[in-house]
Parts: sequence; C-alpha cells; structure tokens
Amino acid sequence: MTRVKLLGSTEITGEQQRFDQREVAFTRLGRGLLGKDTKDRWLGESPDPFWRILYAYTRKENSLVWHLRRAVDGPLKPETVFTGDPEETSAKIKEVAKFFGSSLVGITKLDQAYVYSHRGRNTDLEDGRFGEEITNCHKFAIVVGYAMDYEHINQSNSYYSDAETGRAYVEVAKIVVMLAQFIRELGYSALAHHFRQEEVLHVPLAVSAGLGELGRSGYVISQEFGPRFRTGVVTTDLPLAVDSPINDHIQDFCNYCSLCAETCPVQAIPSGEKTVVRGVKKWALDADACMTYWSSDPEKHLCCALCMKNCPFNNR
Ligand code: SF4
Ligand code: SF4
Repeated sequence: MTRVKLLGSTEITGEQQRFDQREVAFTRLGRGLLGKDTKDRWLGESPDPFWRILYAYTRKENSLVWHLRRAVDGPLKPETVFTGDPEETSAKIKEVAKFFGSSLVGITKLDQAYVYSHRGRNTDLEDGRFGEEITNCHKFAIVVGYAMDYEHINQSNSYYSDAETGRAYVEVAKIVVMLAQFIRELGYSALAHHFRQEEVLHVPLAVSAGLGELGRSGYVISQEFGPRFRTGVVTTDLPLAVDSPINDHIQDFCNYCSLCAETCPVQAIPSGEKTVVRGVKKWALDADACMTYWSSDPEKHLCCALCMKNCPFNNR
C-alpha cells in the first residue's frame, strides 16, 4: 500500500513524476493545439497597449519582461561571502526580497519532482532550445509572491484586470531577477524563474515553502491575500533554512465552497471530488478549456480572473 504524505493540506499519494513543459497549456495554445482562432487572438495584435507591453507577444522589445528573460542568470563573484548560519541567512534573504518589493516569501528544498523535465516554452522555440532536457541541481528554492491590486482584479474580466495580472508578472520577475543577482554577488549560484523564463513549477514550490494552500481553483491561497498574488522563484545553492508547508484548513473550506467552479464560464474547475494527478490528490483544472476561454472576447479581455475574484479569500 502506498503511504500518503502531506504537503500542508495536500495529499501526496504516489510518485510525483516530473512534468514536461511542452505539455503546459500556454505552450499548447502557442503551438495551435487549442485551435487556430485561439492562437491567432492570443498572439496577434491586441487592441490594448497595456497588454502589448506587459505580455510581449507582438513587438517584444517594447516589453520589459521580454528583456528580463535574458537576465535570469549571470556571473558569480569569485569568492563566497560568509553569510552566517542558515537561519540567519534565510532571515536576511527574506528581508532583501521584501526590500525588492515582494509581498510574500518562503523557502523550501528544491524537490526534483518540481523541476520541469524538458524545455517547452514558446520562447524556447525561438532560442532553439525547445525539447532540451532540464537539469537544475540547486538545493533550495526561494518563492516570492507579489500581491495584485484588489480593485483592479475585481474588474475581471476586462483589460484592466488583464493589465493588473501582467503588471504583477513583470514586478515579480524584476524581484526574482534582482534577488538572484544579489545571491550571485555573494558568490553562490542562483537562477531566477519567472513567467517568461522558468525551469520549475511555481505552485507546488509555493505550497512547500508555506506561502499558502492549494485551493480548488488551482491557485495557491495565502492567508494574507487569498489567491490574489503572482509568484516567481529563485533556485540556489546558498545554504538556507527552510519553511514548512501550512495547513490552515483551506482545503476543508474548499470541500464545501465551490464558488470558483460555479463562477467558471466553461466548467474548467471541478465541482466534485479531488482526483489523483501525477501522484497528487487535487481538484484537476481543465487547463485547455480555461485557456481557450481567455481569448473568447478579445475586444474586452485576453485573460480571465473570475475564479480569483470570486474566491471568498480574495477579500483579504
Ligand atoms: S481563469 Fe476563468 S476560465 Fe480559467 S478556471 Fe478560472 S474562471 Fe475558469
Ligand atoms: S472559491 Fe471556494 S472552493 Fe474555490 S478556491 Fe476559493 S474557497 Fe476554494
């Protein structure tokens, strides 16, 4: 019989196989596997200039996050700096992350199950690295959360809420790029991961690092902002003390609340029981249905945050 492990309130029921980034819904969308219309609307000329500068699909050089793709790694200071014991170092690193603008920060061991097996972002196609095997042997992952503006998200779905989501992605990308640079200047290897360039799965790392619990909607639900934040990660060999996953019984609440599932226009969130997906017992999102819906009304929006907006924990 397989022993069940707990990651906060999430049950791990079996072996967690690594996930291939080529199977991510964004990649599938970009390759036309969710339909030509969906791809053309998403990657084509949006009527909204905020969208065009924040998401980098058309004139990419006009987008800061596009340039941040090239800034995830860099040279090391030749000698390492003594940073104190791991507890002290973790406390200092959290202060630095806050100084750079993070709203939440937690630290966990880098479980290899949460490193993608192969590169699969559409940007990897342009770099000729699509399908390349990923090796990341860093010991730790620092997970940063950036809270989004409540009023803007409450205007979902609209280009206002799309802009807020895109702005948060850019802000969190800036934070993890600077944090990785800071650690390399202490002489330790560090790599930033953000939505335009990443090797790791943010959601299980955020749960492991104690930022929140996995909700029915698939978002990590924090005590501070509910699901209303975006994440970035720094993986590193800097010796650190780790945080523990939390169990504030949010999944128990989700068992009785299904507002996100009721709200979803395409029933992408299950209203019933959890199922086991790659060794994890969770509510499995139909990511293809979700992504296809996002661009269904391109005059008004190209993202969706209805499940986030309507989650009772958003009101924090
Ligand atoms: S983002 Fe929108 S389409 Fe996707 S699961 Fe949430 S409510 Fe449904
Ligand atoms: S809306 Fe309800 S069921 Fe969905 S994630 Fe939030 S608390 Fe859980």
